[in-house]
Amino acid sequence: MSRASSSAHFLHSDMDVIPFPKFATNAIHIGNEPERNGASHDLVTPISLAVTFGQIEPGVFKVHDYARGGNPTRDSVERSLAAAENAAHTVTFSSGTGALSAIMQLIGSGDEVVSMASLYGGTYTYFDNIATKNGIRIVYLDVTDADKLHHALSRNTRMVYLESPVNPSMRVIDIEAVVRSVKGYNKDIITVLDNSFTTPYFLRPLDLGVDISYQSVSKYMGGHADVMMGSASVNSEDLANRLKYLQNNMGAIPSPFDCYLILRSLKTLHIRMREHMKNGLLVAKFLERHPCVEKVNHPGLPSHPNYELFKKQSRGCSGIFSFYLSGGKTELFKFFRHLKIFTVAASFGGCESVCSFPTVMSHKGVQPKVLQAAGVTDNLARLSIGLEDVEDLMEDLDQALWSSGARKGYQQQQQQTSPTSTDSRRDRRGSQKIKIVNTQATQTGVAEVETPRFARRY
Ligand SMILES: *Cc1c(COP(=O)(O)O)cnc(C)c1O
Repeated sequence: MSRASSSAHFLHSDMDVIPFPKFATNAIHIGNEPERNGASHDLVTPISLAVTFGQIEPGVFKVHDYARGGNPTRDSVERSLAAAENAAHTVTFSSGTGALSAIMQLIGSGDEVVSMASLYGGTYTYFDNIATKNGIRIVYLDVTDADKLHHALSRNTRMVYLESPVNPSMRVIDIEAVVRSVKGYNKDIITVLDNSFTTPYFLRPLDLGVDISYQSVSKYMGGHADVMMGSASVNSEDLANRLKYLQNNMGAIPSPFDCYLILRSLKTLHIRMREHMKNGLLVAKFLERHPCVEKVNHPGLPSHPNYELFKKQSRGCSGIFSFYLSGGKTELFKFFRHLKIFTVAASFGGCESVCSFPTVMSHKGVQPKVLQAAGVTDNLARLSIGLEDVEDLMEDLDQALWSSGARKGYQQQQQQTSPTSTDSRRDRRGSQKIKIVNTQATQTGVAEVETPRFARRY
């Protein structure tokens, strides 16, 4: 056996993702059975376009009366999503933000939400400009600080809204611990976790005691960057009924075609997530050793401060992480300009690798103090590693890094001296360039990567 093929084998056997029992079988079958048992035994769920449904007699209907309230294709995708989340009910919306709007209608004027100092940009916007207009008060804090959290909870707190890992620093919160302390204070406080980064393939929020698992289905769940959808998954009958009422009466429903596409996407979620994880870890490890990179933030690497917690809490990690370039804004712009396979774009979770610049994209307009606390600086890039051949991704990043003008020790030099002229790029290329081509990549990059071992069960 050649060295390359034995390291590939080693890699696969060491990936050690232990999935939730029946995850794939459920994703492929749940939601599709009614059609198989129906008149024509369709193997896959048909797209039901009807806006209205004939009633047996006025006021008496079979399942649905009007498609805003529900239709057969949406029923299928909601059942499939609920199975993935291990939830009793999932309610879908026309985007993640549509789901968030409905979730925020569960509370009202005078109520308080305790949330985190760093959040998805759109969630911030919603909280600051829309929720506050509706009389809801939002408290932002570091929820991992037990004292601060306890201090922030009050009689008016009706919701605790969490996101983990935190975008883009990738800090991880101990979900069970936070939920336990919130529920210990008042069991009626609704806990919400935005699980878009990790997906239920690796982490199931409801199993950790969270009340609402919120997904931007537009990301990994859809997985092909071609559908927008959001979901809220719950075990409580009361929350399910209220969210279904809001879905119908606020009207931000997903289209039947989008429901069909997501049903299709969910059947390959397990395969895609394993590959995103593998590629992501390999690229992160590669960047960690790269002379033009100052630091990598990836919760699946031992260098991450929350590595142990992350391994205990999750069954694996997705393909998102961030890194600090050994350079400044100018170098980072240059890096982006030289990328050939990576697309500079917002969002994540598709087959295509994308790269973003938080301070000028997702976090533009966030106060400098907040940015600093969240570790979002002008040399931070966020990557969403796709499903391309990992050697090609490493090679693309490698050439763009060397072309960026970034250099080892840049940060210290900036602090110690005034800006110096760019040193000889050719010298560095010659002496330090990590060669990433074909089997060489397998030997230098792939074989040395240790993958974390994730929890078998919660
Ligand atoms: C994209 C995203 C959302 C919003 O979802 P949309 O489908 O774009 O409305 C919410 N949270 C996170 C973490 C996201 O990445």
